[in-house]
Amino acid sequence: MDTTSTLLAEAERLFVPTYKRPPIVLTHGRGVEVWDSQGRRYLDFTAGIAVNALGHADPISQQVLAEQASKLTHVSNLYWNVPAIELARLLVDSCFAERVFFCNSGAEAVEGALKFARKIGLRRDPNKYAIVAFEHGFHGRTAGALAVTHKPAYREPFGPLLPGVRFTPFNDLAAAERVIDADVCAVIVEPIQGEGGITPASDAFLEGLRALCDRHQALLIFDEIQCGGGRTGKVWAHQWSAVTPDIMVAAKPLANGLPLGAILTTAAVAEHLQPGDHGSTFAGGPLVCAVGASVFRRLCDPALLEHVRAMGDELRARLGELQQHDARVREVRGRGLMQGIQVAGDVAAVRAAAQEAGLLVVTAGEDVIRLVPPLIVQREHIDEAVSVLRHALEAA
Ligand SMILES: *Cc1c(COP(=O)(O)O)cnc(C)c1O
Repeated sequence: MDTTSTLLAEAERLFVPTYKRPPIVLTHGRGVEVWDSQGRRYLDFTAGIAVNALGHADPISQQVLAEQASKLTHVSNLYWNVPAIELARLLVDSCFAERVFFCNSGAEAVEGALKFARKIGLRRDPNKYAIVAFEHGFHGRTAGALAVTHKPAYREPFGPLLPGVRFTPFNDLAAAERVIDADVCAVIVEPIQGEGGITPASDAFLEGLRALCDRHQALLIFDEIQCGGGRTGKVWAHQWSAVTPDIMVAAKPLANGLPLGAILTTAAVAEHLQPGDHGSTFAGGPLVCAVGASVFRRLCDPALLEHVRAMGDELRARLGELQQHDARVREVRGRGLMQGIQVAGDVAAVRAAAQEAGLLVVTAGEDVIRLVPPLIVQREHIDEAVSVLRHALEAA
């Protein structure tokens, strides 16, 4: 039997070192809890980075997975399959969208959305290919998605990426107005910035972007990969506002941990696309879509969304108390079960101290602790998490 230290030594040797991981190996989970190879239990407020919305080892997903695996796992997009059609219908019924394209991850959804926008823009005018993106925005690590991701340290080692990307400050409509012109084919924005620091877009900002896109015949793309799928207490975060996009990309929680992404769009956008324009071998397969349909149906359940709003309010109130008690907490922000606390001081040390005390959290931006627990989280978990955080802030 491998001991943890042997596993860790092997891991250090075997992997390309693109991640900085703490020396723990997770072995199993249940609901909001996970355990490591030494039998230590953690409360999981990372949830696979806002992925495991229905918690670990979800019994219904296990059953759907087993049943579908005994029928059909993969057929490719050369043929139709029933679970993909079912999931597409659920997604379309959940929002503005009329057409769906499936993919395998968030970055892939962004890649596809940018391709769609480029094709439509270039058909109007050979100069209409610029894309407006925002400071502190995050859209993924593949070349196209990376080109619209703001953080220079993520982009710069890789040389010239997509040409025509213009970054402008988030929540600053006047600045956006200066860069959105006739050459812009798309504006991509997160209704709540995740990785960049849990910063919600104002309704006025989203409304203003909608108007600018309409004026200049650019597509408005909402990246709801992290904030969508019930996390804010509505199925989609933009549904708190009156604005709808032309394209929305989704991924993280859609299949509770299986890789599944989607591009949701209008019939008017889809009309410009034809066979051969885009594709994927794995995407939209029956196994992942069967789990996705079951998971997404539950994420749309009004009772679950009501629970998210109630637990979000609870978490927000408790973090507000923490801010009162500890001056190092500069700001609490977010919506529903996507909350961030901006901390003065060493945020990595706070994260490490929380882990030491049995709470998994992930940072966001330079100085934010991100709290994105499974949506099934209960009041007692929130009590425990906030109490651990209070001590972690003191210890760090
Ligand atoms: C995680 C994330 C992505 C990238 O998704 P991957 O599945 O990691 O490729 C893109 N946009 C946002 C807002 C995200 O949070």
